[in-house]
Amino acid sequence: MTRAPPPLSIEPREKARFSAAQRFAILLRQSTDGISRCEVCDEVIAVLSPDGHWMKQRPIEWDHEKARALGGRTHTENGRALCGHPFKCHKAKSASDAAMIAKADRMGGRTGQYARQKERKARGLKPQIQGRGFRNG
Ligand SMILES: [Zn+2]
Repeated sequence: MTRAPPPLSIEPREKARFSAAQRFAILLRQSTDGISRCEVCDEVIAVLSPDGHWMKQRPIEWDHEKARALGGRTHTENGRALCGHPFKCHKAKSASDAAMIAKADRMGGRTGQYARQKERKARGLKPQIQGRGFRNG
């Protein structure tokens, strides 16, 4: 027996990784006179050779300026080339993204007290924390 195909989504799930063409375009956008710099520390990360290739000067990590978990797309305009390990530029950025993603999940009711409340309600349980109601005096 074969399984039914998954329902078609409106747009196909976008890849997490930037393509070679996108990476080239990102370095070009970040460059002045063929020298591309990290957007965090401003160090030179790649130099354009006369034959049109980027020559890496530092390890590069490709960053979604707006994190994918926050709705950022894998588009050239949302991509940045940052220094990778052992430099801290991308690592520091990802850590601040993680805090924002956790907050977005709480606010969106995917984690945190609202999610727990919703789950209890769905299971037909009473809310754990009841309001005291209004009291006079
Ligand atoms: Zn850097």
